[in-house]
Amino acid sequence: MIRVLISGQRVDWDEYGEPLLAALTNAGIEAEVIHERMPRAPETIDYIIYAPWSDMKDFSPFTGAKAVINLWAGVEDVVTNDSLKAPLVRMVDPGLTGGMVEWCVAHALRHHLGIDRDVCRRNAVWDQCVPPLARERPLTILGLGVLGRAVAEALSSLGFPVAGWSRSAKDVPGVTCLSGEGGLVEALRRAELLILLLPLTPATEELMNSERLALLPKGAILINPGRGPLIDDDALLAALDSGHIAHATLDVFREEPLPGDHPFWAHPGITVTPHVASATRPDTAVGVIVENIRRGESGKPLLHLVDRRLGY
Ligand code: NAP
Repeated sequence: MIRVLISGQRVDWDEYGEPLLAALTNAGIEAEVIHERMPRAPETIDYIIYAPWSDMKDFSPFTGAKAVINLWAGVEDVVTNDSLKAPLVRMVDPGLTGGMVEWCVAHALRHHLGIDRDVCRRNAVWDQCVPPLARERPLTILGLGVLGRAVAEALSSLGFPVAGWSRSAKDVPGVTCLSGEGGLVEALRRAELLILLLPLTPATEELMNSERLALLPKGAILINPGRGPLIDDDALLAALDSGHIAHATLDVFREEPLPGDHPFWAHPGITVTPHVASATRPDTAVGVIVENIRRGESGKPLLHLVDRRLGY
């Protein structure tokens, strides 16, 4: 029998405890699924299902852990933890991906079509402004991983000329794939609409600084469901105030919840959403977790391993 610890907040236990046990049983894996207040010797734990908002920050007592399976796609809060010696797996979940595609398409179309302009009319103003077609709006996604690629494919299927940028070269049908520093300049210069779906690592922190924001075409729209520190906040505010950037829709922030006195809340050129672009969905994520445990138990390579050196 294996022992699986769910380490997170109460809600994680409520959402994952029973479904995970049921799915493991269905897969023929005899398991005990426990939470942190159930006293068990740490060295007897085989797998840790980990939500980074867990109070547990010291993995060293878990000497028998075969993997730590992160419940979130982003691993920046755990990847640098030196007490973690077991392989670290990040979350790749069809439900999470589907939610991100829907959120990005919705916010891209809001700006592309000028929906705010049309739904906010007052005083009987009949001012027809026919929006351009998607094919006339070049759009770039920074990050062509699981989420960036799915968003790129969805927007490309609507007709947008989509470019994507990643660390390593990619080949995504219908998407102009760029990489490296030269590729970034090209990706930004064409981006009337820019979506950030990069992980937060030392290499991506403040990637969108004043120089890179200046590369965007005048009037560009920025949408950030990636991580807050990908952007230099002051540089963004300056670019909005100068009119170089027309609008920024931000879902993630350097500090969350975004403090009440933060200038982003009141800025007319910023839409704040409260880190809701997408979330791991227990009904689909449980299958992914069980598949990795099955692989761990049968000596097969784990899926979605984090490269601790790269930080994602
Ligand atoms: P992923 O599959 O690991 O993809 C990351 C992408 O970023 C890859 O294409 C990678 O390039 C690229 N990249 C990483 N470092 C780079 C660098 N220095 N230069 C250029 N490209 C770089 O991650 P994912 O599952 O798509 O998730 C992306 C991020 O979305 C997460 O890390 C998380 O921060 C965020 N997220 C947000 C929410 C939300 O609700 N707001 C929800 C889920 C996730 P390679 O392909 O060459 O490796």
